[in-house]
Amino acid sequence: APPLHAQGQGEEGEQDAALRPKRMADMVGQRAVYERIKIAVDAAKMRGEPLGHVLFDGPPGLGKTTFATCIPRDLGVTLQIASGATLGAPKDLLPYLTNAEAGSVLFIDEIHRLPKAVEEFMYPAMEDFRVDITLGEGVSARTINMTLQPFTIIGATTRTGLLSAPLRDRFQIREHLDFYSEPELTEIVTRNAGKLRLEIDPPAAAKVAMCSRGTPRIANNRLRWVRDYATSRADGAATLKVAEEALAMLGIDPMGLDPQDRKYLQTILRVFRGGPAGVEAIAHTMNTAIDTLTDEVEPFLLRSELVVRSPRGRRLTQLGYAHLGETPPEEFPE
Ligand code: ADP
Repeated sequence: APPLHAQGQGEEGEQDAALRPKRMADMVGQRAVYERIKIAVDAAKMRGEPLGHVLFDGPPGLGKTTFATCIPRDLGVTLQIASGATLGAPKDLLPYLTNAEAGSVLFIDEIHRLPKAVEEFMYPAMEDFRVDITLGEGVSARTINMTLQPFTIIGATTRTGLLSAPLRDRFQIREHLDFYSEPELTEIVTRNAGKLRLEIDPPAAAKVAMCSRGTPRIANNRLRWVRDYATSRADGAATLKVAEEALAMLGIDPMGLDPQDRKYLQTILRVFRGGPAGVEAIAHTMNTAIDTLTDEVEPFLLRSELVVRSPRGRRLTQLGYAHLGETPPEEFPE
């Protein structure tokens, strides 16, 4: 069997794995997505056919990798993990394709980062379970046609818009993962506190959930911090007071925004007078990568209606001004 490639996220990746649900049934939230995937998985199992290719999109930390690792367990098949960032040429992808057992899953994280040549190499693999390999060069070049086992590709990306239409269209199942509700996050925090053997009061669990920007990965990180704080500064138990103190020390505000989120809002307010401002200009001013803003910072702020996106750029909303304790200008557009 091919090696299972690590996620390349260092320690955080391993910590993520410790709290990651093993089965889809253990996942919290995303009910509509869960139900649709479950039907497709059941049907594939009953017919003894591979599951259709699946594409997940959504901001980081919402469960794309979790779905991708739970689905093969539920199917009872093997899983290979690759990343679009490291598949630079068709030859990098080929071993994964030839190693894929019948019915197995190949998870490609950051699939939008695949170079065009690799993408095109993948089309016949996805459609007809075959690849065309070119040997030699120039006049002596030959193409060998190789048959693959029928298998499933699960792709993950932060935005489907980053994928070319021909690649997107080759996924039979496309699912968008959205932010989690506070009750869902509270459930995740409570369960994971149990896994971490942390005694947590229900109001403290709700507080951590409220401060996690709708994102399970952030909830897990905040929970670990609360646990450290409780161990170091209290008697180990996470009361509401302990959770509040721990989160305040990270600079998390009551809405769950962290210093970087607030810096983004402050930049639009102070430098661009509330906007509209282009994301490139904001990123430049903040000395931050544009992708970090569009993929990690903005989705939750847009969803919380603190900013809006218009053709002319990002603009603070009434709520955005209020959150910063400011009054919008007189002629404020509605
Ligand atoms: P993504 O691949 O979208 O960046 P992950 O699947 O790695 O996100 O999720 C990050 C962490 O959040 C996981 O390790 C897991 O602990 C937690 N998590 C994500 N989705 C769920 C869920 N639906 N239920 C419980 N925990 C979840």
